[in-house]
Order: sequence, then C-alpha cells, then structure tokens
Amino acid sequence: MLRRDFAAIRQDFPALQQLVHGKPLAYLDNAASGQSPRAVHEAVAQQQSHDHSNVHRGVHSLSERSTAAYEGARHKIGRFINASIEEVIFTRGTTESINLVAATFGQRLKAGDEVLITWLEHHSNIVPWQLLCERTGARLVVTPIRDDGSLDTAEFDRQLGKRTKIVAFAHVSNALGTINPVAEMTAKAHAAGAVVLIDGAQAVPHMRVDMRSLDCDFYAFSGHKMFGPTGTGVLYGKRTLLAEMPPYQGGGDMILTVSFEATTYNSLPYKFEAGTPNITGVVGLGAAVDYLEEIDFDAVAEHERTLLEYATQRLLDDIPGARVIGTAAQKASVLSFVIDGIHPHDLGTIVDREGVAIRTGHHCAMPVMDRFGVPATARASFAFYNDYGDVDRLIAGLTRAVEIFRG
Ligand code: PMP
Repeated sequence: MLRRDFAAIRQDFPALQQLVHGKPLAYLDNAASGQSPRAVHEAVAQQQSHDHSNVHRGVHSLSERSTAAYEGARHKIGRFINASIEEVIFTRGTTESINLVAATFGQRLKAGDEVLITWLEHHSNIVPWQLLCERTGARLVVTPIRDDGSLDTAEFDRQLGKRTKIVAFAHVSNALGTINPVAEMTAKAHAAGAVVLIDGAQAVPHMRVDMRSLDCDFYAFSGHKMFGPTGTGVLYGKRTLLAEMPPYQGGGDMILTVSFEATTYNSLPYKFEAGTPNITGVVGLGAAVDYLEEIDFDAVAEHERTLLEYATQRLLDDIPGARVIGTAAQKASVLSFVIDGIHPHDLGTIVDREGVAIRTGHHCAMPVMDRFGVPATARASFAFYNDYGDVDRLIAGLTRAVEIFRG
C-alpha cells in the first residue's frame, strides 16, 4: 500500500518540527529546496560514519560498500524515472546537468543554427545556451508566454524549424508554477529534427516522470529539491546520444586508458563523471528515492492541488491588494504573488517573524518578472508535507504585514 497519510508523512521530517522565532515553522519555500526525511539523514550518517571510502577504485571492504551504495543509488534513480543505468549521470544539480549538455552535445552547433527556449526558464536554462550561442554563432530563440503564464504554443510551433537544433524548456516553471505540455512539445521538436532537453527541477518533487513515455533526449533535475542532499543531481540522456557525445570534464574515472599520445574513455555513464563524485550525497539521494517510492503520487497531486486552491482563494479573499502572478490552468504548487504597496522582501521578512518561510525576489527568472512588469514576487511553494495550517499561518503573517504597512 502506497502512503497517502500526509499528516503522518510530515512527522518524518525533523526540520518541520521546529519553532522559528517562537512559532511553529510553516516551510513554504519548497521550490527553492525541499526538507529531507529522517531516512535520508540516516543513510548519510551511515555512509559517513561507517562506509566512507572512495568508489570504483578499492578492493577493500569499505570501498566495496561505498561503491555498492553509490551504484545502488544509480539503479534506484534508473527505476524511478524508467531509464537504464547507463543513462543516469550524477551531477551537482540541474544547473550542472544543463551545462554538461551545452558543453558537450552543444559542440555540434554551427553559426546559423538555433536553440529554442521559453520565456519561463530559470536562468540555468538560459545562460548556458547563451554562452553556447556566443561560442558557436548559433541564435537563441525564445517562445513567449501568455498573460496567464502559459506557453504560447502556437508561437512555439511557428518557431520550430529546420534551423532548430536544440529545444530546452522547463517541465514546471519555478517562478509561476506553470506546467508545460512537455510530451507534446517533445514530439513536435522531434518532428522538426531537434534534440530536446527538459528541465525537470520543479517536476520531480510533485509528479512521477517516465523517460520512456516523455521520450525527451535529456532530462535534468536536482537532489535537494526532491528531498535529498544538496550538491546532487541527475542528467538523464538517451544512451545513443550520450555515446556519441564528447566527455564533459577530464580526470579520473572517466577514462579507460591514458597515455600522452591518446586517451580512451570509459563506458557510460562513467565517461561523464570525472573525479571523485559526491558519494555521500548520492547515497542520500538514493534514500530519498526509496522514500518517494513509498508515496502515492496521485494522492500527492490531489493534496497539493487542494492546498494551492485553498491558499490562492484565501490570499485573494483576505489580503486586500493581493494579485497572483501566474494563473495558468495547468499549474503545480507554486503561488507567486504581489501585494500593492508592499515590497516582496518586506513581506518575506515580516512573515519570517511569524515562523513562515517564503521566498521573495526574481526567483532566478528575471525575464518572467519583466514579462509581468514586477521587479520581484513573493512565492509560497508547497510540498506533500504541507497542510492547511501552514496556509493559515501564511495568511496570518501577510495580514500582519498589511497592518504594519497600512496601519
Ligand atoms: N531549473 C529550475 C526550474 C529550478 O527551479 C532550479 C532551482 N531553483 C534550477 C533549474 C536550478 O537548480 P540547481 O540550483 O539545483 O542547479
């Protein structure tokens, strides 16, 4: 039986049990980073205190245990996203995963080629492509978004063409919560002959993703947003493409033989994992996947949808001058908003005094802020362990902010 008792699930997260400024913590900054369950802390502690050793190189018992735990995590991720283990590359996170593709696959691009992204992207799915375009003379093309924060899919269709070599887009927008129709976009990009990278940083904590049914060429995500440790992430890539790509970094572990004349590279996925990896982090990430495998994600979607609806309604009903930024029909659990006359940073600071953690700023998505004509928003983002009480505390904190600013 998969778990769907979110009140019980919340008890697995030690960080959520604390007081902040003497108030129970309402942690609503999950789009920036998720809290991790006790099982992850225990796996990390076991690895550090008992099994710590380098991987792949030793014949002694500790090294064998570390290797088994590290490679075990790769198997878990492979099962979790429906990919083979050759297709699971460990990175520092989504940012590094995207940079890896831009630096390696990107070498194929020539002047006149195009990279198509969207207006919704996080900076980490913009800047690596800008750098690539600067190096190669390729052109960055951007699909606009509509006033509700959904993608202008008609324009996307028009922009796809013979010159399009790479299409890169978020599965879920971190600034607005918009869920893109990624399977359709992938099929259209493929029909135009382009390769597809999906930034899944905000999708994996909220929904099950299946590489075979999405059929994308690359999929990037971060461990710390899926309740695992920081400094971990994954690049999924289709085996045939990865096999053709040059390595990313040179060093230990990514080679088969080295001489001064020529070096031959290791098999997949090791060709892309130079140097000692974040072993402890990856072991923790494996534990996070085990934890997620026990949870009913249909129930997660329903739970988070009702929380988002409740929070949106309360914000609009109870906070005069509040405006939601991002109202697409298909939306994950992100509530981005502004309140007339109060800067989001002031909101964030005041609600923190009430024990409520939200994010304020441009959310590493400055083009999105420009599109909506705001310098910043306040953003409450939910995970499955949040509850109505968290929303009530958010609204109480915002009410306090309005009292302070408007007297
Ligand atoms: N893409 C999206 C949609 C994100 O939300 C984030 C993190 N805010 C990133 C990429 C970058 O992830 P990381 O900092 O873990 O590399």
